[in-house]
Amino acid sequence: MESHGPRYTSRCSVCGNPARIFLGSTSYCLNCYNRLSDYLAGVATPTNDSYQILALDSKGHTVEFSVERYAFGTRSIWTAIEQISPDDPRKGEGYVGRSVSIAVDARRMTQEEAYDALMVKVQRLVGHASMRAVPIALGESGETSAKVGGRALYANETGVARIEITEQGEKSVIVDGQRLSAQQFMDMLSCFEGFDLCWQMRDASSEPPEWL
Ligand SMILES: [Zn+2]
Repeated sequence: MESHGPRYTSRCSVCGNPARIFLGSTSYCLNCYNRLSDYLAGVATPTNDSYQILALDSKGHTVEFSVERYAFGTRSIWTAIEQISPDDPRKGEGYVGRSVSIAVDARRMTQEEAYDALMVKVQRLVGHASMRAVPIALGESGETSAKVGGRALYANETGVARIEITEQGEKSVIVDGQRLSAQQFMDMLSCFEGFDLCWQMRDASSEPPEWL
């Protein structure tokens, strides 16, 4: 269920924007918090903290991301978050969008280098399809697939799934921006019955695997 109330109840004590970081009794928006953190760590604050990235998916469609930074000490996590319009019909089918992160140490990488690294990682992840969808109306029986919103989803040979526990406490994975339940994930993989599944866990902000 989506909440219709304000997402953030408190205001940034510096600029009055909605607060996202709470330190003791003081609240900050992300930008003001980052500036404070950069100042305390003695590193330069990026001149452009928020920007957009466009990437092409495996079908050549443009996917738009907005980027935000979260600083702690000299390190920052830069995250590109897919922008989904509020009336996107996929939202009702569990489409939550993709997010791609990198970790950057301000002493080793400039802001421009961080942008470039994030852009490369976004394009690598977005350009690789981890699953394929076939409309069930095309006569697809879909027995070895996950059925989501009139589509049969089949795993590709290689893929990436972000493991996430929902606010309701349900274990799920996000594949190509689509949230799948544990059962749906298994259904999607079942087209490879008899194969071995090898897995490797990676921190969301670490280097993507070579095959991406
Ligand atoms: Zn602020």
